[in-house]
Amino acid sequence: MLTWKDIIKYSVNGNPTPNRRVEKTEAEWRQQLTLEQYRITRQKGTERPHSGALCSIYDEGQYNCICCDTPLFDSTIKFESGSGWPSFTQPITPNAIKYHKDSSFGMVRVEVMCNTCDGHLGHVFPDGPAPSGLRYCINSESMQLDSKIEEHNNDK
Ligand SMILES: [Zn+2]
Repeated sequence: MLTWKDIIKYSVNGNPTPNRRVEKTEAEWRQQLTLEQYRITRQKGTERPHSGALCSIYDEGQYNCICCDTPLFDSTIKFESGSGWPSFTQPITPNAIKYHKDSSFGMVRVEVMCNTCDGHLGHVFPDGPAPSGLRYCINSESMQLDSKIEEHNNDK
């Protein structure tokens, strides 16, 4: 399980190696994504709190990167933080996410990105619930919910 110490280590000493890399030009991303998805993931934007479609959804499934479809989080580690953004306590695998110290807006925060395509996801904070103590605060627009697991259960 990752803790704040690991996050700081990654953001200072370098990130874990991803399973694969997806690299595209700005023009290709623009073509693939909606304007809002592009603004958030490729230009480090933030959606308005409580505006995201995945904010109050707790269906079973995996949350995949909207840019490259890599699994980032799953529904078992999602929790209601009250922040207005989808919140998680851990990534789906330790190397799914990339961390970067972000000193914009006069604050020091840790930015989280997709480790496969460098898409901006949101930030991680050390004020989450035990045992990890982490709160990944992620834009809905950066992810899509893959609820195949649930569809499969309904088939029975
Ligand atoms: Zn990605």
